Amino acid sequence: MQALHDKWGHPSNSKFIQICRAQNRVGFPTNFLALLNRFRCKVCALCKGARGYPRSTRVQLHGPHKTPKVVPAPGDIVFCNSNDE
Ligand SMILES: [Zn+2]
Repeated sequence: MQALHDKWGHPSNSKFIQICRAQNRVGFPTNFLALLNRFRCKVCALCKGARGYPRSTRVQLHGPHKTPKVVPAPGDIVFCNSNDE
């Protein structure tokens, strides 16, 4: 079911039913509607979830938080050791 859904470019359920009918159910399982009711695409769930999530808009506007680099004060002895991190 997931492969079939991927193949048709992640359609919504109603769109997927339209495609099924347009294809005369060729390549679709006989219990397609029953499977569709239970089927949840992880990719689609993520996309739809992100769209309805108000905080994600704010993150898009302001960008992700960057952790400020710790700049050593002048005078401090800094060892350049690449294995230190
Ligand atoms: Zn999908």
